[in-house]
Amino acid sequence: MRLDKYLCHNASITRSEAKKAIKKKQVTVNESIITDPSLHISIDDEVCINDTPIRHLGTQYLMLHKPSGFISSTEDGQYPTVIDLIDEPARGLHPAGRLDVDTTGLVLLTNDGQWAHKVTSPNHECKKQYLVSLDKEITDKAIEMLTAGIYFKSEERKTRPAAVKVIESTLVELTISEGMFHQVKRMFAATGNEVIDLHRSQIGDIILDPTLEPGEYRPLTQQEIESIR
Ligand code: URA
Repeated sequence: MRLDKYLCHNASITRSEAKKAIKKKQVTVNESIITDPSLHISIDDEVCINDTPIRHLGTQYLMLHKPSGFISSTEDGQYPTVIDLIDEPARGLHPAGRLDVDTTGLVLLTNDGQWAHKVTSPNHECKKQYLVSLDKEITDKAIEMLTAGIYFKSEERKTRPAAVKVIESTLVELTISEGMFHQVKRMFAATGNEVIDLHRSQIGDIILDPTLEPGEYRPLTQQEIESIR
């Protein structure tokens, strides 16, 4: 859709107001000022007027309490997917980031590719908080290793420093800002421990709604959507 039409449609302004804002260099697309009203806008573009995002009216943002046994993708031959839990038209919905099939907790789903990118891209450093049940008691040495960062041979780099809060000797809150493959389980394995149960409780400032039972979901509030930047 053309930029001026996109603005009329999604910001509820007239075509001439849209053209005026474009002319006054108040409109950006993916952070670049755009002066061509005919520029083609697709669903993954981030359009702003005076730095305020103008979201596509068809966009959906949901939080899901993922139960164990479901896979965080849109299709799978073996397991049911998180999309199978959504019983409304899921117009291009994707999970923003993955949890292992046996991990429970907060999954964000959206059809807004730019927004999802901010959740998942390590450059945006969006924090993810996990509640981790361990096989053995956590040691001071393990806390030191987790907070310093752990070298992953296959990625040839260290994890970013994690924040560790010990709740009980075998129950820990771990906060990381990346999403490497099986990251939490591998971090604890490197300390000589094993993750027995993993639950994601928070992404950025978005906390899993305690009223959601496993398998339930709700739309995000405007404040929750805007908290991801
Ligand atoms: N780290 C893991 O090891 N598994 C998850 O599901 C999420 C983070």
